[in-house]
Amino acid sequence: MFSKILIANRGEIAVRIIRACNDLNIQSVAIYSRVDKDGLHVKMASEAHEISEDPLAGYLDAQKIIDMAKMSGAEAIHPGYGFLSENAHFAQKVVEAGLVWIGPSSDVIAKMGDKNVARTLMKKNGIPIVPGTETLNNESMHTIKLYAKQMGYPVILKASSGGGGRGIRVVYKEEDLEDSFNACKREALTFFKNDDVFMEKYIQNPKHIEFQILADNYGNTIHLLERDCSIQRRHQKLIEIAPSPSMNKDLRRKMGVVAVAAAKAAGYSNAGTVEFLLDEDNRFYFMEMNTRIQVEHGVTEEITGFDLISRQIRIASGEILDIAQSDVLNIGYAIEVRINAEDVRNDFVPSPGKITAYYPSLGPFVRVDSCIYKDFVIPPYYDSMVAKLIVRGLSYDLAVRKLSRALREFKIRGIHTTIPFLINICEDKEFKKGLFDTSFLEKKIQDLIPKEEHDVSDVVAAIAAAIAVRAGM
Ligand code: ADP
Ligand code: ADP
Ligand code: MG
Repeated sequence: MFSKILIANRGEIAVRIIRACNDLNIQSVAIYSRVDKDGLHVKMASEAHEISEDPLAGYLDAQKIIDMAKMSGAEAIHPGYGFLSENAHFAQKVVEAGLVWIGPSSDVIAKMGDKNVARTLMKKNGIPIVPGTETLNNESMHTIKLYAKQMGYPVILKASSGGGGRGIRVVYKEEDLEDSFNACKREALTFFKNDDVFMEKYIQNPKHIEFQILADNYGNTIHLLERDCSIQRRHQKLIEIAPSPSMNKDLRRKMGVVAVAAAKAAGYSNAGTVEFLLDEDNRFYFMEMNTRIQVEHGVTEEITGFDLISRQIRIASGEILDIAQSDVLNIGYAIEVRINAEDVRNDFVPSPGKITAYYPSLGPFVRVDSCIYKDFVIPPYYDSMVAKLIVRGLSYDLAVRKLSRALREFKIRGIHTTIPFLINICEDKEFKKGLFDTSFLEKKIQDLIPKEEHDVSDVVAAIAAAIAVRAGM
């Protein structure tokens, strides 16, 4: 086992990885940009080093991170999610520097990081994929229109190296295809420095179902059940549930077998996720594989009892996977909501700034993975997710009730957050019954956006503060 690990990340996932290190009695090394000097990960790690003055450059500087790992005596690097976590070149350099990469091998990252290469590989191995094209690099607009016509509208354009819901355009009619194609290419180039785009049939009202994979370095591969991530805004997940409230045993077994086969076809090791779309007739299609720990890994941990970050570290250190598929059972349902520092009533614009009060929810079967605290100033340079609230209940219904309770208890002051919006989702009749697909939020969003600026407790706090001022307290 390692004695020291460097964490090439920030925010809640860096904190989560430090906790796993502490559980395993491993020293942790944090890196931080200057604006992150008061970050929780900096305070919690065994040691912390400034990587750059610039807010972003340091977290993306492969060589500097490797040098820092060497200098601090770390034996391995955990990349978390986002930043360099799916950068095959970085993974390769880490290994060349004599360090251990906590994740799959760099060639697996390269293969699966390109959605098109992944699709081709899956197809070759008999895994069902969404009907679609190869990369549309040399095709004329005339040909692309022909493909779309053959496939039938609507179609979806995707950046081959896309992620986080970026570089995606749904096209409903031929007139819009050219503009959408060009816009998709531009976005792909801006975000992913690669403007390869391909096209898929747009599956109507599907569910996003993904399987958590764990594989060791010796070919032992299992799945840890599925997550339902159908509640999305602009193709980005907002709420994740494990297991899926609309899954049955038979379908789970079938999809699980295919997910494991997909991972094996890729030569996968460590933790990863196989994402599928499930259509209205329960047909499922491979969509992509994420070669890293996922934001929503916590719901799987809560229902299965397996600590995924610890497992990642243990597998990377060479341990044999000692969990058999038959050991993986779920206790009830877990739901995660992503609490973002965003102004929901203002088109979800980021709402960075100082936290003036922070009371995370507590109580049985409530977990908060976060990186904020009272007086912390959320910098404007990063992802707006500041906390993940995860609850568990013995049934889906009980989990939703607990979520509703925990969200009402959760107080973050000083900035706007998505909490009031999430509370409204908990009140939705269809959400309560587990009846939703990826179109859920799009259809209902106007009704779910809170009408008032603040929730009641904000008003109460404001009144209390006013009274205190008057009373000279
Ligand atoms: P999940 O872990 O559930 O797949 P997301 O897809 O939202 O969650 O991505 C997790 C984080 O990683 C987000 O902060 C997102 O912005 C970032 N991210 C995901 N894919 C990429 C990518 N290819 N390039 C850069 N950032 C990415
Ligand atoms: P990312 O890498 O950004 O996560 P994905 O390929 O996983 O991109 O797609 C993100 C989301 O977009 C999916 O969860 C799903 O809601 C939607 N989506 C992607 N492909 C299709 C499709 N062919 N039909 C319908 N919806 C899709
Ligand atoms: Mg995805």
